[in-house]
Amino acid sequence: MTHFHHYVYGNQVAVETDHKPLVGLVDKPIGLCSPRIQRMRLQLQVYSYQLVYKPGKELVLANTLSRAPDTQEYATDQSQINEEYVHAMLSYVIPEETLVVGLVENGWPNHKRDCPVPAKPFWSERASLSTAGGLLLRGHQIVVPVSLQSDMLKQIHDGHFGESKCLERAKSVAYWPGYVEEIRNLVAGCRICQFERRHQNPHQQHYPVEVPEYPFQRVATDFFQLRCKDYLLAVDYFSKWPNVIEMSSTTSAATIK
Ligand SMILES: [Zn+2]
Repeated sequence: MTHFHHYVYGNQVAVETDHKPLVGLVDKPIGLCSPRIQRMRLQLQVYSYQLVYKPGKELVLANTLSRAPDTQEYATDQSQINEEYVHAMLSYVIPEETLVVGLVENGWPNHKRDCPVPAKPFWSERASLSTAGGLLLRGHQIVVPVSLQSDMLKQIHDGHFGESKCLERAKSVAYWPGYVEEIRNLVAGCRICQFERRHQNPHQQHYPVEVPEYPFQRVATDFFQLRCKDYLLAVDYFSKWPNVIEMSSTTSAATIK
């Protein structure tokens, strides 16, 4: 857009791309994008454009130039296996976050097969990853290093709030590949969380009620049980005065009255 500024500025233009994820990124709430994408979108704000997805095979001109033969493409499968082996060995030496930070800062390879094995779980998230002050971020979430994940899980689960609350808690601050599954499994295997879930009453909404003009204009009633006895509770909306009547088989409508 900046390169063709004089042609596109002030005009409604369509940009064709064969990179489908990009189309979605432009419609996503800007706060959920990585700082890198945020900067790109802010820069593009001066233009009126629409991103249109077009399969690579239909983007003939651009692809003819970008797909010129590359000897690297014809590497044997064995060399690929060797590469993976080296990467796997390296993962024991270099923590994966350091590796991913390096990829985020210096660029990812073009193909997933060239991505170092320990960084592969981050491949699908690479567009949302960024770094800030040495920390790895996914959107606004901090990527939690492997060594701190179990600690983080404990904190997320603290208080036994059940699956949805724990997930909500995690999603607002933390991320690591597979964290949703791990939280789900943890909660599913936790007796307290499961017990709470079964015994939880759905929250009732509060409805404000107007104060009546005279006593007994409006009366609320409900039954309750205490020490194996049934009671009827009646509250006058005007005086807020509660009346409790013990119920028995002989309680008649008249007694209640
Ligand atoms: Zn629990």
